[in-house]
Amino acid sequence: MKSSELFEEAKTMMPGGVSSPVRAIRPYPFYTAGGRGPFIKTVDGRELIDCCLGYGPLILGHAHETVRRAIEEQVTEGWLYGTPCPQELGLARRVIDDHPSIDMVRFVSSGSEATMAAIRLARAATGRQDIIKIEGGFHGAHDAVLVKAGSGATTMGVPDSAGIVPDLVKHTRQVAYNDPEALEAVLSSSDDIAALIIEPVMGNVGPVFPEKGYLQEVRRLTEEHDVLLIFDEVITGYRLGIGGAQKYFGVTPDLTTLGKIIGGGLPVGAFGGRRDLMEQVAPQGPVYQAGTFSGNPLTMAAGTAALGWLHDHPTVYQSLDEGTRAIGEACEDAHAGGSFVRIGSMFKYFFRPDAPRNYAEAKESDTGRFQTFWEKMLAHGVFLPPSQFETEFISAVHTDEIIEHIADRYSTCLSE
Ligand code: PMP
Repeated sequence: MKSSELFEEAKTMMPGGVSSPVRAIRPYPFYTAGGRGPFIKTVDGRELIDCCLGYGPLILGHAHETVRRAIEEQVTEGWLYGTPCPQELGLARRVIDDHPSIDMVRFVSSGSEATMAAIRLARAATGRQDIIKIEGGFHGAHDAVLVKAGSGATTMGVPDSAGIVPDLVKHTRQVAYNDPEALEAVLSSSDDIAALIIEPVMGNVGPVFPEKGYLQEVRRLTEEHDVLLIFDEVITGYRLGIGGAQKYFGVTPDLTTLGKIIGGGLPVGAFGGRRDLMEQVAPQGPVYQAGTFSGNPLTMAAGTAALGWLHDHPTVYQSLDEGTRAIGEACEDAHAGGSFVRIGSMFKYFFRPDAPRNYAEAKESDTGRFQTFWEKMLAHGVFLPPSQFETEFISAVHTDEIIEHIADRYSTCLSE
């Protein structure tokens, strides 16, 4: 069946025809038949260069041999035990060793679960009710954080969701990114704030970077006000390098949430941090958290293999950085009036003159022009995430030749 036919049928069975909103590309999404390296193949017989990469997890590209072998070996031994398994220890050791801020970790099955639990833990540990999030920050699709959220919520124009109890989200305060004064004002206005949750690099309104000293100031202010700092590194973890954004920028959070890359492409999340905090998680402490699929051997094996590969190839982050630089140079040469932003292997072309500093500025981008550009890129064989507000990625298997191809297509489509 062709993509258009599959989508018609899917719409009769699944809301919007999809399992996650941002996938509902108009007039219909292409359906993927397989992925290999930097490519995905559609059921319609096209081969596309993938710069969406599962929205971030696939830093080794599709069906990477190291991860595939680990999955295949584990599959023969079964894939769900409902008991502890040795594979959990391997991944836990990696995550702890790579993040000096993490003394203990709990594995879950998605980034959403990780942030939900980290927020609950912060509230329990401080005995306070309110949290602060950054406008446009996306931390998953649970009630407390679906307020002025990025990602699909921004793309769809519904930063809030129906069905959320106002009494709950009144405990979620918002501040603009890159605005320490605004943060200080909120911190000073109340003594009922448990935590600030922040993506150190905003990844769900396109990449938006911290200005020099901003994250350090965030750390100083939260410490001064005795408020826990949660770094949501679901995207940036192992993406900006081993040790994530906290190592990259040299700022130590109290709690960290991880996901995406640490599962090697299988469903995963994790939260971790200071021992005195993590010891409050059940069954050691009173903060309840549980999951049927948490720490399952298949995800643990895939994640351990992926992180092992990254450790064995430490120069990969430099190569990824060079890759996005090359794409950026092509964009500049096109003189299309927008701004190319990149950090490591995360990048985006914003259809506005300057790189945005926060959510409000990112939203000023010309989404109509983005849509036209996105369609052109797809027609030229490059699949970008279908939104001005989703970060683009390259992987370790996007070779120089592939990068050159992407850069060339960027240049052509922007010039057009
Ligand atoms: N936090 C961040 C920063 C994310 O980018 C995402 C997903 N894009 C999440 C949390 C939620 O993760 P998941 O989709 O695995 O629930």
